[in-house]
Amino acid sequence: MQETKQAPARSRHQQRPLIGLMSVALFCICAALLAATAWTIWSSREIRLREAEVATENMARTLASQADTAIKIADVILDDIVERSERDGSSGQAGKRLAAYLMRLTRKVTEIHGLFIYDETGAWKATSLGVPFKGDNSDRDYFVFHKTNPQTATHISAPVRSRSTGHWIIPVSRRIDHADGSFAGVALATLRLDSFERVFDSLDLGKSGTVFFALENGTLIYRRPFQEKLIGTDLSSGAIMRSYRENGRAGTIMRVAKIDGIERLYSYRRLDGYPIIVSAALSKQDIFSQWKVASLQILGAALCAIAALVWFFRKLMRQMAMRDQVETELRVASLELEKANADLQTMAWKDGLTSLANRRAFDDTLERERKRARREDEPLSLILLDVDYFKKFNDAYGHVAGDDRLRAVAKAVAGSAARCGDLAARYGGEEFAVILPGTDSAGAALVAKAIRQTVLALGIVHAGSPIGLVTVSLGVATTSNGDYQDASPTQLLQRADALLYQSKTAGRNRVSV
Ligand code: GH3
Ligand code: MG
Ligand code: MG
Repeated sequence: MQETKQAPARSRHQQRPLIGLMSVALFCICAALLAATAWTIWSSREIRLREAEVATENMARTLASQADTAIKIADVILDDIVERSERDGSSGQAGKRLAAYLMRLTRKVTEIHGLFIYDETGAWKATSLGVPFKGDNSDRDYFVFHKTNPQTATHISAPVRSRSTGHWIIPVSRRIDHADGSFAGVALATLRLDSFERVFDSLDLGKSGTVFFALENGTLIYRRPFQEKLIGTDLSSGAIMRSYRENGRAGTIMRVAKIDGIERLYSYRRLDGYPIIVSAALSKQDIFSQWKVASLQILGAALCAIAALVWFFRKLMRQMAMRDQVETELRVASLELEKANADLQTMAWKDGLTSLANRRAFDDTLERERKRARREDEPLSLILLDVDYFKKFNDAYGHVAGDDRLRAVAKAVAGSAARCGDLAARYGGEEFAVILPGTDSAGAALVAKAIRQTVLALGIVHAGSPIGLVTVSLGVATTSNGDYQDASPTQLLQRADALLYQSKTAGRNRVSV
């Protein structure tokens, strides 16, 4: 049993190297699946980021081009009216003609909110508004700038609310000189901020996108969503202006905005002809919102696939373990059955009391040995022996003691006929038989005498016997020397029995051959 119980424990790993291999394969598949998923998610994020960069760059380019065009128009118009003003002056009839000209231009060019000419004191000389000339703009930034700066380049200022109409406007201005080069006033074209906003409306900025314009020095001109208080804010120390100064006229960076704390992807660009920076930005959240949903779906699908694989694997393992157990149980049961069969076989051929061969085994062996002896022309001897006065022994000492002494006699018989091929058997009751293949009558007589001697030497006290000890009487029959050469087992038995009877009648405790 020890053997059979250890066998399955030892065999599980030896018999199933497949389990180890499959576990490794499963681990590799799961790891590969996770790696592929991670790579897919990561690469789709990179693609999404590139797309967003292209989108913001295109928006910045569109904004820059639109602003460039609008300012260029204002610039050309200013060029023209400064030239007229310097040539014809702006008083009297010339002034009236100039005002009419400004009105015509304003009507034709939608980006232009108004056109104005101021004298050196800041008083209106001519306007496109068609109202009586009054008002003083000598305090405006652009007026102060031109008054103190002799150069005639176009100047762009931060947006202001128009004193004449209340609209938000971007002032674009030029200096007007007297013939001697002294300051004669300012020509001003104002651009409508809302005409820019129409372009912003056409851009897809998402929920938290933004657009801004700033002067090259960092002064914020406009930011969408529009907040009046932010106009004029200094952005020169901000990340975008820094990047502009360090990396050139166009670029893209991801930054958290100081104004609202939202992280965005900013693309900025300087206008071709004017010192203005425009920027368009999409918030990181807007950029990656769809990517996040798709990534979660992919990840979910991968995890489901892994869970299904693991589940299937575990089920397979469990079934294999169950099969193993059934196989082991079957093996144990079969071993037990084999042993039971062997025991049964032994029991069928063995005498229960003395453990010698039983009558059945004796008959079988005698028949077989008889045939073999005749085939090989060899002698075969048979000893029959009977315990003397055994009925009296039982009567005197009881059956339990009788059984015990029978076992002792059996042991003596078996011990005296111990040659290979000899068979000692219990013939029945207190009678025993010994088959001696290849033994002639002289050899058999020696064995018989040895048995008699050994039993006597046991010294088993038997008050009912004339000599006071347990003894045996023996008869020895042999098929050899032409004697009983062709005798059957029964004839051999009868002969041995007759000789045994002869020993009994001759006084017992002797051998008759
Ligand atoms: P004899 O010397 O003529 O052989 O006398 P005997 O008493 O031995 O012969 P008998 O055949 O009259 O009696 C045989 C006895 O052996 C009967 C029985 O009491 C005893 N006997 C037979 N088988 C067993 C057994 O298995 N156990 C015990 N204890 N006694 C047995
Ligand atoms: Mg008897
Ligand atoms: Mg007897």
